[in-house]
Amino acid sequence: MTALPPGFLDQARVIVGEADVLTDADAIAPYLVETRGLHQGRAEAVFRPRSTAEVAALARLAHGAGVPFLAIGGNTGLVGGGVPFGGIVISLARLNHIRAVDPANATMTLEAGVILQNVQDAARKAGFLFPLSLGSEGSCTIGGNISTNAGGTGVLRYGNTRDLVLGLEVVMPDGAVLNGLGGLRKDNSGYDLKHLFIGSEGTLGIVTAAVVKLFPLPRSRVTAFAGASSVHKIVDLFERLRAVAGERLTTFEFLPRFGLELVLRHAAKTRDPLSSAHLTYAMVELTSPEVDAPLEDLLAEVLETALEAEEIEDATIAASEAQAGDFWRLRELLAECQKFEGGSIKHDVSVPISAVADFVAETSLACEAEMPGIRVCAFGHIGDGNIHFNLSQPVGMEKQAFLAQWHHFNTLVHDAVHARGGSIAAEHGVGLNKRDELLAYKDPVALALMVRIKQALDPQNLLNPGKVVRIGNDLPMFTPGN
Ligand SMILES: Cc1cc2nc3c(=O)[nH]c(=O)nc-3n(C[C@H](O)[C@H](O)[C@H](O)COP(=O)(O)OP(=O)(O)OC[C@H]3O[C@@H](n4cnc5c(N)ncnc54)[C@H](O)[C@@H]3O)c2cc1C
Repeated sequence: MTALPPGFLDQARVIVGEADVLTDADAIAPYLVETRGLHQGRAEAVFRPRSTAEVAALARLAHGAGVPFLAIGGNTGLVGGGVPFGGIVISLARLNHIRAVDPANATMTLEAGVILQNVQDAARKAGFLFPLSLGSEGSCTIGGNISTNAGGTGVLRYGNTRDLVLGLEVVMPDGAVLNGLGGLRKDNSGYDLKHLFIGSEGTLGIVTAAVVKLFPLPRSRVTAFAGASSVHKIVDLFERLRAVAGERLTTFEFLPRFGLELVLRHAAKTRDPLSSAHLTYAMVELTSPEVDAPLEDLLAEVLETALEAEEIEDATIAASEAQAGDFWRLRELLAECQKFEGGSIKHDVSVPISAVADFVAETSLACEAEMPGIRVCAFGHIGDGNIHFNLSQPVGMEKQAFLAQWHHFNTLVHDAVHARGGSIAAEHGVGLNKRDELLAYKDPVALALMVRIKQALDPQNLLNPGKVVRIGNDLPMFTPGN
């Protein structure tokens, strides 16, 4: 490992204080591994600045000394983007203040290290909704959400994180601070630079603060669970519901029988919402800011029509908040429960909504033909065309033998996505895991522009090097277990 230049740590201590310079192996260990243990990184030190000025001073120090550096938030990213391979780590955890809520502008100005759940709570306290919602919301940070353009379960109604951000404060790779915290809903005074940083996975700048949009709190809500014989029928239900519910349709998630069985098998206090088994399921939620909006009547009518049309085989509407919560748990626990079934090869992809059903059906068959006994667990956000196309190993197979097929199945699934005009990185990003696969699937002109943007903003390739785009000969390709 390359040592830091002499005096580097002393200068860093002057910037952030002795206690926030971590060099002890045990103290820095949690910052070096990825959530699923797919990568083991290395770093010389971890710094925990408390202000934008401190982040900027650290960036200037690293830039001047030619030391690679990266930002880390909650470390819940799933593509290896936050794993350091040398240099230093800047944790944003202590930039965790909400600077202001502006009710008239319906905005909140906040620092990058605020945990997403705390953003939601603060918005609620002020009488608003902050609609970003992910399974990791108890640990991920708003800075991480912005840097990965996180999606989640509210995208159908409110959009991705990109759609929720009005302004950003960003520390550039050379330590300059871009102040874009205006909070304007209209600003055509040149290039909209915030969009460069949103979704750039910390490769172009370190987000230190943001202005985000707030929305009216939902005052009526209804949640349902429906079973059908195919994903095609679930997509028909989605179209039917969207046509009449419009933007009141806030969630439309789907999961297969195998996924539901995993949760029922491995998670305590869960039960099947329907009395018999179905091949696939939809979890649907309608909300409205209106008090006592007749959402249940609307949903019941649509479900009845769908039953008569034989689109769905059964459905139930939650009779209470608690029951709605039980439905949500089934969906939220799914990814976590997969790990109890041995190795899994995961894909986070998107295709046009019109192609979702064919993609799932045909690619499932292709995977099953390739490896008899493989268990397809395709679930996700139908309303966004975003499918988590996960593959669980056959029962009894050796885990490493299954994971050795990682690239083979990646190619099979990603070819199918590409053939339908889709994306191989729908919401979790590219990081290290998908960087080299982009070469096969991304428009070459877009790729060349990405490299030029990276080189223009970070000519020394010091900020999170080797992630998203490969410059020169940096980090090797991702292989599971490396
Ligand atoms: C159980 C679970 C469920 C999840 N569900 C979803 C989901 O539904 N939708 C979804 O989109 N994702 C989901 N994720 C993935 C993950 O939670 C998101 O990508 C999240 O936005 C990452 O936030 P974080 O603070 O943990 O970022 P980190 O993991 O710390 O970092 C992620 C990337 O962003 C960069 N970064 C972090 N903070 C900054 C900053 N302030 N400035 C610049 N760069 C920064 C890092 O360098 C890294 O490249 C899930 C993860 C888990 C574990």
